[in-house]
Amino acid sequence: MSTTRSALVIGGGIAGPVVATALRKAGIDAQVYEAYSGPSEGIGSGLALAPNGVAALDLLGAGDAVRAIALPVAGSRLSVGGREHILPVLADQPPLQVVDRGELHRVLHDHAVAAGVPFTYDKRLVRVDEHTDGVTAHFTDGTTATADLLIGADGIRSTVRGLIDPAAPGPGYTGMLGFGARVEYDLDLPDDTMVFAFGAKAYYLYWKEADGHVTWGANLPSKQYLSLTEARAVPAEQWLRILRETYAPDTPGGEFARRTTAENLEVTGALHIMPPVPHWYRGRMVLVGDAVHAPSNSSGQGASLAIESAVQLARCLRDIDSPTEAFAAYERLRRSRVEGITARAAKINHSKTPGPFARKVMNALMPLMVRTVMNPEKTMGAERRYRIDWDAPVQRELVTADR
Ligand SMILES: Cc1cc2nc3c(=O)[nH]c(=O)nc-3n(C[C@H](O)[C@H](O)[C@H](O)COP(=O)(O)OP(=O)(O)OC[C@H]3O[C@@H](n4cnc5c(N)ncnc54)[C@H](O)[C@@H]3O)c2cc1C
Repeated sequence: MSTTRSALVIGGGIAGPVVATALRKAGIDAQVYEAYSGPSEGIGSGLALAPNGVAALDLLGAGDAVRAIALPVAGSRLSVGGREHILPVLADQPPLQVVDRGELHRVLHDHAVAAGVPFTYDKRLVRVDEHTDGVTAHFTDGTTATADLLIGADGIRSTVRGLIDPAAPGPGYTGMLGFGARVEYDLDLPDDTMVFAFGAKAYYLYWKEADGHVTWGANLPSKQYLSLTEARAVPAEQWLRILRETYAPDTPGGEFARRTTAENLEVTGALHIMPPVPHWYRGRMVLVGDAVHAPSNSSGQGASLAIESAVQLARCLRDIDSPTEAFAAYERLRRSRVEGITARAAKINHSKTPGPFARKVMNALMPLMVRTVMNPEKTMGAERRYRIDWDAPVQRELVTADR
């Protein structure tokens, strides 16, 4: 039984509300401090939760609320230069749950509040004071908060990561900028299918909503790195011109770009991938979610891994008395899994813009590739079948993990 009684959770995105809810379930008081002024500010469009992530939410009783706002997507296709290839499914696994990001934040927030977690907004962490038995967080408005532990769930540009280790690496740039939009388009596609499309000049993905609209996401190659703020400072009309020119040769990508308007264009900015973070914790501070393992959008696992890590961290703190030992156990349970998935995504990132010859080869070899190297069983079987046994003592799992 842990002697940890309280935790400050910095960040109220996805990992923050989930770790706070899981900590409450583990008997530890957690409070969330978020820099934004509300639960879903400045958030992009769609996000797919994998079965492993939804299963981790089920442990906290939040799975049904998420499924209620989601579009289940069971099938997937690859489109190479407009030619579609149906990918085999993992027959024993439930579908992906595609959710609006803002709605997901609200559901996770409401679930955490119902579990007794207080949220405080307009609280941007700037520094900490560490004591032998606790941590004091200092926010930009001059206020402070103190608890036994501090958990950095503060995303890809984590402040806590730098407080744990000033030499920690920052996020890597995938060489692509992200955009999204929901457009009116009568697309001939089953509404439980997602298509990953290798266009002539750029990669994109899309699915059909239940109301017939199509949501598409564009990964625009760009040598120039633009942060979210920098990308949003560019007039939407300018982005639309670039997107229409880039996707013009593609079917149906060209049509999606033409139907996207300045009003419904979501600009995400640089798409990131985190290199391995040497120090996941120090003293009474620890990282969770994108702050320590952002596998890039190509993995389709960022949010799901954030949720899994949040639940596993709470379990370790529940079962292991010393925070340092609990953090070490958490890292042992998580590091190889998240780094393996990040490495798979990095490979995908490098192959998103094949040239004309490579596209021809891909189309010719695709039937063989989907049975071999691209078979979902090989690429995603272990990722999606991962389940956490909440009731089992962590110590027992560590023995297996170390074998
Ligand atoms: C274009 C795109 C598409 C994606 N698609 C998918 C997908 O299909 N499936 C999937 O699983 N994942 C996807 N992801 C990844 C997913 O969005 C992230 O992995 C997930 O949001 C990580 O959650 P998090 O809570 O760790 O970080 P975030 O959601 O970024 O939350 C961090 C929070 O911390 C707050 N914060 C930051 N600094 C401070 C501070 N100093 N003080 C207080 N608060 C602070 C922020 O305001 C924010 O609310 C995608 C990402 C992108 C960019």
